[in-house]
Amino acid sequence: MKPHTLRTPAALVEAGLAPPERLAELERVAARYAVAITPALADLMDPSDPDDPIARQFVPDSAELDFREDERVDPIGDEAHAAVDGIVHRYPDRVLLKLTDICAAYCRFCFRRERVGKGSGLLQPKALAAALGYIRAHPQIWEVVLTGGDPLVLSARRLAGVAAELAAIEHVKILRVHTRVPIAAPARVTPALVRALKASGKAVYVAVHVNHSRELSRDARRACARFVDAGIPLLSQTVLLRGVNDDARVLGSLMRALVECRIKPYYLHHGDLAPGTAHWRTGIAHGQSLMRALRGRYSGLCQPAYVLDIPGGHGKSPIGPQYLRGDAGCGYQIEDFKGQRHSYWKS
Ligand code: SF4
Repeated sequence: MKPHTLRTPAALVEAGLAPPERLAELERVAARYAVAITPALADLMDPSDPDDPIARQFVPDSAELDFREDERVDPIGDEAHAAVDGIVHRYPDRVLLKLTDICAAYCRFCFRRERVGKGSGLLQPKALAAALGYIRAHPQIWEVVLTGGDPLVLSARRLAGVAAELAAIEHVKILRVHTRVPIAAPARVTPALVRALKASGKAVYVAVHVNHSRELSRDARRACARFVDAGIPLLSQTVLLRGVNDDARVLGSLMRALVECRIKPYYLHHGDLAPGTAHWRTGIAHGQSLMRALRGRYSGLCQPAYVLDIPGGHGKSPIGPQYLRGDAGCGYQIEDFKGQRHSYWKS
């Protein structure tokens, strides 16, 4: 295993993850967007394969500097719903609490790429106190989603402190953690970190970002098992990525691997309009055809919801294929998993 996280193009070249002739190109990208590849991820990469699905997600590419008119600095509209520093209040019953803008590794398609790895790092104590005050003052907030960046780059001690503050807020019932750490830095998932999340006494869910079955290494599976064994249910979030998982078999293998790890597939995200990410996005019709293929061939446990975060901050909507046509007046036509249509009576 490489000893350190690789943070510069020169380090990537030295580690054999990019050829020397690409150094100048990588440096141009790295000047704009953060780069970090952890030892655990570097170990999963096959430098001899130009299409390696792990390397593609983390090694910079000059296509990231190809900006399109419809792309946005803030593609899902976090700013439009920023209540106070660190809080995004988009939906009535839940808020995002952004504890840090640091991640263990930086995904080249990140929807928050204009922010992550660039700012002050941690939400400062004063801002954190104001964010917690906002949650306290809004009794409709039932769920707090810890996100960032990646909240699990924080120490167990710091996380336990936040959990203890949230524990004291009666109307908050659910803590959800969005993270890529079990994949990118599985050694960080220690018993102390798991205990820290449980310290709130609230129901805790962890949503793990995983895009390819090869990311579920032995260490990553062990890290995920630590949460589940401690009574913390795991969900998955997958981004639909051209050349990584835009194939029914690849996506199906990922969903099965997740379920085998006791991770319930939750969301398949259509690629957001983040700057310089056009080369990652597939068409929605292709995403729908993948979802149809999953529905036909894989267990119901393996079905995520295919969703689009509506640009401008209007929230997520499901965009999966439709199986039901017609209406209550004329009757319905329902399509089965083989694509055959059947009549369903009026109701
Ligand atoms: S882990 Fe999430 S926030 Fe961090 S770079 Fe990847 S997509 Fe962005």
